[in-house]
Parts: sequence; C-alpha cells; structure tokens
Amino acid sequence: MFALIGTAVDAESVRRNAAVIVEGKAIRAVVPADELREYGVDEVYGGGNHIVVPGLINAHTHVAMARFRGLGEDLPTEEWLERIIWPMEQGWTRKDIRKWAELGIREALANGSTTINDHYFFANEIAEVAERLGVRAFIGQTMMDEVDFPLASPEEGFRFFRRWLGRSELVTPVLAPHATNTVSLDLFRETAELSEETGARVHLHLAQSRAEVEGVKKRHGTSPVGLLGKTGLLNEKLIGVHGVYLGEEDFSRLAGAGSTLVHCPTSNVKLEGRTINLEKLLDLGLNVALGNDSPNPTGILDPFLEMRTAGIVANLTAGKPHAVPAREIFGMATLFGARALGLRAGLIKPGYLADLVLINAEKPWFRPMENLYSLLVYSARGSDVEVVVVDGRVVYGKGEKTEKG
Ligand SMILES: [Zn+2]
Repeated sequence: MFALIGTAVDAESVRRNAAVIVEGKAIRAVVPADELREYGVDEVYGGGNHIVVPGLINAHTHVAMARFRGLGEDLPTEEWLERIIWPMEQGWTRKDIRKWAELGIREALANGSTTINDHYFFANEIAEVAERLGVRAFIGQTMMDEVDFPLASPEEGFRFFRRWLGRSELVTPVLAPHATNTVSLDLFRETAELSEETGARVHLHLAQSRAEVEGVKKRHGTSPVGLLGKTGLLNEKLIGVHGVYLGEEDFSRLAGAGSTLVHCPTSNVKLEGRTINLEKLLDLGLNVALGNDSPNPTGILDPFLEMRTAGIVANLTAGKPHAVPAREIFGMATLFGARALGLRAGLIKPGYLADLVLINAEKPWFRPMENLYSLLVYSARGSDVEVVVVDGRVVYGKGEKTEKG
C-alpha cells in the first residue's frame, strides 16, 4: 500500500492536501493528508507542492512511428506518405518495431499517459513491449483490404485480436480497420460481428482527409458515418479518430449512437490545416476523447501540450474566446478517454483503477496555485510529471519518498 500526496484534481473535483491511497490495482481511499498515518502505508510520494491527477489517456496513437519523428516535415501530406512513411514502413523488421515502440511508450509514460490506444502494424510486438513496460494498452493491428498493403492484411488483424483476447491484464486487443476508404463493406461487417461477439472496441480513422470523404461518397453514395451505419459499427464501442471532414449530421449520428470521436488537434492542424468545432460537438453530447496521434507529425507524445492546443484551437473554430472550459478539456484527456475504452478510470475515487500521475508543481509556472484546471491545461507540460502509476504499480519516476508510513 502506498500513497500519493498533493492537490488531487479530477474532472469532478479539486481536493487540496489530499492523500490518494493505493492498494493492489485500485484506489482504496482519498483522505486529508494529515489522516494518512491511520492507514499504515509503506511508501509516500509527493507532498504539499504536488498535484495528483488521473493518468492521462492517449486515445489515438501510433507509438512506433517515433521512428519517423521530424522526417518529411515540410512535404505535402500525400508526398510525405508516399516518399517517407510508406517506403520506411515496408522496410520494418520485428526488431525495429520493438525498439521504436519501446521508445514511443517510454515517451508516453514519461509525459503522464497511463493508457494508450495504438493502431499499427506488428501489433503483437507492440503489445509485448507495452506489457513489459507496464503501460495500459489497447492495441489494434491495422487492417486494410481495399489497398495493396500486405502488412495490413485482415487475416493478421484477426489473428492478433484472437491471440490477445483475455490474455493480459494490461493489454486489451481492439479491432482496427484502417479507415472508411481503405476497407471493404465485407470487412467492416466482419469486424462488426466480432465486436458484437466479444465486446471489443473498434478503432478507426474517420474522415481524416478530403480524399477519404470523396472516395466513400463515390463508392457507397454516403458519408463515412453513413457507411459505418450500414455495417453495424455505429454504436458505443466505436472509436472514430479525427473527423475533421464530417458534417453536423454525422456528428449528431455519432452522438446518438454513443460513439466516441478522438480529437487530435496538433495532428489535424499540421497535416490538414483543419480542426473540428469542439464546442459544438461537446454541446451535442458527443463523447470526445483526446489523442496525440504519432510523434510524426505531432513532434512529441505529450498529453499536456495536446490539451493546451485543443483549448486554444477550439476558440478559433468557435470564433470566440473561452469556447471550451479548461475543466472540460481536462475531462477529455482523462474521464472521457476512459469512457471511450470502457475503463473504470479517469477519476480519483475509491474502487477506480490506480492509474495516477504525480506532478511536481514546485515551479514558477504553477503559481498562483488557484485555478487548477487552467494550470493543468495551459501551464503544465509532460516534463513536470514526477511519478506515474499504472495498475497500482510505479512504472515511471523514482519520486522522492518523503516519509515512511
Ligand atoms: Zn493516426
């Protein structure tokens, strides 16, 4: 049993001088720090100048793409894919993948992400690395059948899924069709059936580019969301990513179905020069989670920078300041991400998973320590993270053991 001490902040409340007590894999209690001695904990991390938050959830990423960081930075998207990304992906070996997935996962953990939702090839290798490093990971093997890309064969996708189903406490396999213009109706239907049968999440890119929307319209006479409606995928297990070319009707359908949209603001602005109208989508009641996408194009897997970008960019599309409160943005990176993945996490409450982050707030940019949500979204950064706990285990940062219980 151990405790994290500091101001405990989650999307529902701010509790000053709190001790968050962890026992096994769960949060046992949240008590005033001066009552801690009654619990006989073995170790204590943090103190007065710390903030404890639920672990941040990176709801869309490709960790192994750390390999491509900064490459082709100034090329147009199509050229970037054709000249840099795809040729390098064809050359991947299993050894490369292990090395770069490890780097990407270490980067995510160091910046405070306790959960990743990854979508890539060589999912088996990524899953093994994730389990070894102790991050909570939802992992899907990318599947495409409308494009000739052997790494993304549906057979391999289903094989990975079945192999990891129910196998690990930390790694949960998800179904990962690539996007609405690279996957056939039949493959979408097969995916929907397997999701129905197993309860698995379905994670896909959704209306990320104009070409995708035009392609779907031409082939199926509908929008990407309309297409998902035809295949049985439009439900609460669907995690669609980006959505920058969706119309209002599509967003309403996603909200009505209880699906999740993952917002990746840095990636969208860098690759497409576009974003979603976050304020409107939250008003519709759509569950919007936050993703870093990959280190190329975003530069770094830092959920704090992503929150900050989401908050600022929301004002641009709304055409007014303060479009989305910082507290709501923080909810996207924690509670709404947990909801998307079906996790009992994202809040600091007894019985919730002990996925927690301790932030060292003994720095000028945390003063005055008054509006905690604003500090977390606009002032904090990943490098302020001191200790990361996943599933009740300290997986990053030694932390200062300030006292012995
Ligand atoms: Zn992506």
